[in-house]
Amino acid sequence: MIEQKAKTILVTGGAGFLGSHLAERLASVGHDVYCLDNLHTGSRENLFGFTGTGKIHLVEHDIVKPLPELPKFDEIYNLACPASPVHYQEDPVATLRVCSEGVWNVLARAAHDRADVFHTSTSEVYGDPLVHPQREGYHGNVNTVGPRSCYDEGKRFAETMLTDFCRMHDLRLRMVRIFNTYGPRMHPQDGRVVSNFIMQALRNEPITINGDGSQTRSFCYVDDMIEGFQMLMAGGDDARGPMNIGNPAEITVGELAELVVKMTGSRSPIVYLPLPKDDPLRRRPDITRAQKVLGWKPRTHLEQGLKATIAYFEGIIERDSWRVALDA
Ligand code: NAD
Ligand code: UDP
Repeated sequence: MIEQKAKTILVTGGAGFLGSHLAERLASVGHDVYCLDNLHTGSRENLFGFTGTGKIHLVEHDIVKPLPELPKFDEIYNLACPASPVHYQEDPVATLRVCSEGVWNVLARAAHDRADVFHTSTSEVYGDPLVHPQREGYHGNVNTVGPRSCYDEGKRFAETMLTDFCRMHDLRLRMVRIFNTYGPRMHPQDGRVVSNFIMQALRNEPITINGDGSQTRSFCYVDDMIEGFQMLMAGGDDARGPMNIGNPAEITVGELAELVVKMTGSRSPIVYLPLPKDDPLRRRPDITRAQKVLGWKPRTHLEQGLKATIAYFEGIIERDSWRVALDA
């Protein structure tokens, strides 16, 4: 790590999957980290057991409301947003409000504190892409009124709002476009493909492939992603503008199902469900920019990352049965 001076840092969405890993990484080098989260999909448990030198504080709050009084921040990382299709489609208007009013509230605090801003955007800004792999200059193929639009268009709006606001207020901004990321602390019921397949496999329940399984994704392990966040935040002027961070190793959803079944030794059958509307058929990041500007590239192979993720979900299932046993 390059950091020298302890900073006061806000991580919105800090009790979630990526947010809790980021908060730990920042606190482990001595920073004072405030995780502001409404616990919609995040949990206190994600922040238990931290033993580093810095401090992690959890503040329960919804970013759609003006932020509460807190210490002056040096840096603000904005991760708060429902992230899985199941969660962001539950209440699409709420998702749009998080991406607009929520981002506005975060920016207002950043301007007040003169804090550096880091925002988590997404590969979903490319929609169902007509260009493959996706580079930052591609402007996407997004339906404005489909079931995924609340998230895709919300995140697109947020990128514009952040860019214009930070330019007008002379704030330092870094924005990452995250491609499918997985690892320990994913919500076991958020419906994302890695968590779904692993939970189904460990319980010997049917593995649910949407469509014929030929659609592709490129999966990045959480540790690589968080390292990318830190390198991007530390990056110079050439790191301005949205940057893809993800693992370019592309795999079909069908191949992922087979791999998870093999690695868990599961007896799960595979079942095929209809492909949801507007589900992107191909997705792979072009990470040329991250490699050139930051010197970043992913280091974790899919099997290695899945091994750690499977172990995490085994722990969750064990703890649940332990609770059930106690209740009985
Ligand atoms: P997550 O659901 O685990 O984390 C999101 C966190 O934000 C949760 O803790 C949730 O409780 C919190 N939150 C949601 N709405 C909030 C609100 N209104 N106010 C305060 N807190 C709120 O998901 P994640 O995968 O950790 O995603 C983190 C960020 O990264 C999100 O902005 C997401 O859009 C983005 N992202 C993630 C991926 C991925 O593959 N994991 C891909 C693209 C983009
Ligand atoms: N998917 C699937 N079965 C599941 C969950 C997801 O086949 O149980 C598919 C989904 O339709 C999509 C891909 O896996 O084609 C990735 O889905 P996810 O929700 O993880 O992420 P996103 O679609 O946002 O990339």
